Amino acid sequence: MTEIAKMPIIAPPNSASELNMPAMPTVVVTTVTHWTETLFSFTTERPPSFRIRSGEFAMIGLYDEAARPITRAYSIASANWDDRLAFYSIIVPDGTLTPRLRHIGVGDRIILRPKATGTLVLDRLRAGKRLYLLSSGTGIAPFIALIRDPETYDRFDEVILTHTCRTNAELAYGKHQVDSTLKHPLVGTMAMPALRYVPTVTRDSGRYVGRITHLLRTGQLHGWLDLPQFDPKYDRVMVCGSIGLNQDMKGILTKAGFCEGSLTNPAEFVVERAFVGEERVL
Ligand code: FAD
Repeated sequence: MTEIAKMPIIAPPNSASELNMPAMPTVVVTTVTHWTETLFSFTTERPPSFRIRSGEFAMIGLYDEAARPITRAYSIASANWDDRLAFYSIIVPDGTLTPRLRHIGVGDRIILRPKATGTLVLDRLRAGKRLYLLSSGTGIAPFIALIRDPETYDRFDEVILTHTCRTNAELAYGKHQVDSTLKHPLVGTMAMPALRYVPTVTRDSGRYVGRITHLLRTGQLHGWLDLPQFDPKYDRVMVCGSIGLNQDMKGILTKAGFCEGSLTNPAEFVVERAFVGEERVL
């Protein structure tokens, strides 16, 4: 792994006059967990006025050495009822934000822009029987929010979460979140009979091996789950991954007769990018 120099966390400016612009709202970091050398998660306090629908993303960030704000889109991995905001982050060695963000600690402040938005929300899907949540990499974050939301289980009998990473180590965060959801006093009893979790790896050995698109095209995913192939009458699908995964999944779903949903026209599937730019080997 490329060695990343420790960069200071710059405190936000105290007054608007320092930057000649209004200071951005900030929140205090409450926990930080590093899962691998390039993946970590953290929680922050939640401002009482910060409203979210489970599955949305917000703009978060830090001030750089010149006190300029650097913000990026981040999926919120906590459900709408959570009193903390949870995030799951990659570290891009030559990125702008994440080589700084990786050094945050409990008590530090990060920028949180006040509005959350996004396409991976239940209101964009028609009523159905099964909900498939298909993710790769940090794309699992919005789906952690959705599996923690009781409304997901009110709307669907079965919820199938898939998460594809290169290695088993990169699956650790998702496994932990699924496990803690199943044990959670609010949502655990609803999730236990309904939630099915399929972690797959592409460059490691494991129970489930392969990209989700390959596992769908070959029928292996549905075979493992003992479920019928995709059917727009019963199945609803959310996808969050690289541009390549999203495009391939759109192709698979459109061919199977699924239509993309919006708030004004809820339908059978929705897609959101887990990041902007090409997929790279990190
Ligand atoms: P950038 O300059 O932003 O990115 C540099 C390059 O790194 C990109 O061009 C891409 O090739 C690669 N890259 C960036 N992010 C990722 C990623 N997550 N996975 C794989 N490769 C990546 N990132 C998260 O870590 N967690 C999230 O929950 C998350 N949610 C997002 C939600 C949306 C809607 C979008 C559009 C992006 C999201 N991102 C998320 C990506 C995030 O906005 C930043 O790109 C990321 O934090 C890296 O920031 P950076 O400034 O260090 O590098």
